Amino acid sequence: MNDSYIPLSIPQLSGREWAYVKECLDSGWISSAGPFVERFERAFAGVAGAEHAVGVVNGTSALHVALLVAGVKPGDEVLVSNLTFISPVNAIHYCGAHPVLIDASEKNWQIDADKIEQFLAEECEEKNGSLFNRKTDRRVAAILPVHLLGLACEIDRICAIAQRFGLKVVEDAAEGMGVRYKKKHIGTFGDLAAFSFNGNKVMTAGGGGMIVARAKKDADYARYLTNQAKDDSLEFIHHEVGFNYRLTNLHAAIGVAQLEQLPQFLEKKLSIASYYKEALQNEPELTFMPSPADCEPAFWLYTVLLRPSVTLEQRREFIRRMNEQGIGARPFWHTIHDSRPYAGAQNYRIEISPQLYARGICLPSGVGLTPAQLERTTGVFKNVHRLLR
Ligand SMILES: *Cc1c(COP(=O)(O)O)cnc(C)c1O
Repeated sequence: MNDSYIPLSIPQLSGREWAYVKECLDSGWISSAGPFVERFERAFAGVAGAEHAVGVVNGTSALHVALLVAGVKPGDEVLVSNLTFISPVNAIHYCGAHPVLIDASEKNWQIDADKIEQFLAEECEEKNGSLFNRKTDRRVAAILPVHLLGLACEIDRICAIAQRFGLKVVEDAAEGMGVRYKKKHIGTFGDLAAFSFNGNKVMTAGGGGMIVARAKKDADYARYLTNQAKDDSLEFIHHEVGFNYRLTNLHAAIGVAQLEQLPQFLEKKLSIASYYKEALQNEPELTFMPSPADCEPAFWLYTVLLRPSVTLEQRREFIRRMNEQGIGARPFWHTIHDSRPYAGAQNYRIEISPQLYARGICLPSGVGLTPAQLERTTGVFKNVHRLLR
């Protein structure tokens, strides 16, 4: 990567990262125990207004364990977004459960709450106190809505629907650090939630994740499962199959330093979004990222949609040309129903998500972007847009 390449989203390490990592090295606490882990969990819970937070090695393992804690069993089904990074769908698979892929809404680009409700009401039936998918005769256990791109799903509605049908809600808030919905941080609506601190997210720990739980017993069980389900730490007695999903003190140290900078990061994300909106406002037939009234967004990756008639091939060419000119643009998430591992999964009324995938372009959104880099990005975008219309 040369200096003139403008990446999609890279970490900005401008706070106390060095100082805190040095503390780990000086003290010898570099592994899966140490004071920064607890400090990160507490500080995170404070910022998100979460009841309980358990640090883990990454966002995917957070989702895996959150689903297990929610009671998802082999053979169950979980409703999940069709338009998403594949991680939450894989997490369902790790539980031996089956995803049911739900379409996105044009209105907010997130999982469509109406279609969730319709699927549960029309395609499922109650038997002995549980909900079953009529077509597969499998138990429906939970809903896993994914908050995409630094926006929020209609999470209050989704939770109300889940409650009506007796389902658990596990929120995937990996892209949503700092996002609030109706004044409440996302990840605090459902029974459990997962966050990610991968290097490209709103804030990073160099790698890491957080399980958020509303109930203390769920948080305790999550902590137990992520630490090899150790029932006696002297004798190493285990009553269940657990996992080594612990967060290291080194990573937590970076996480604490990043969390201290979150307000600045969010401010920068908002200013990047306004810049793009302003600079591209006269581009013909361009759709900007929605900003629903109830949502305080973090605009993790600022995304635009090309004209409705654009073909997938034209959108691919668009991104190819931007990349050639040193701009790290990339597509919106690939739809899961036509990804190879989940081609056989049940999907429900997939109509909108393929269009969002075909038309969407995520623009560089790192908090370290300079005004000159933003100007170059929009300059290249306009040129390519003119050529390909
Ligand atoms: C990044 C991401 C994850 C996974 O997080 P990792 O820390 O990379 O495992 C899960 N879900 C979504 C929607 C993501 O964007």
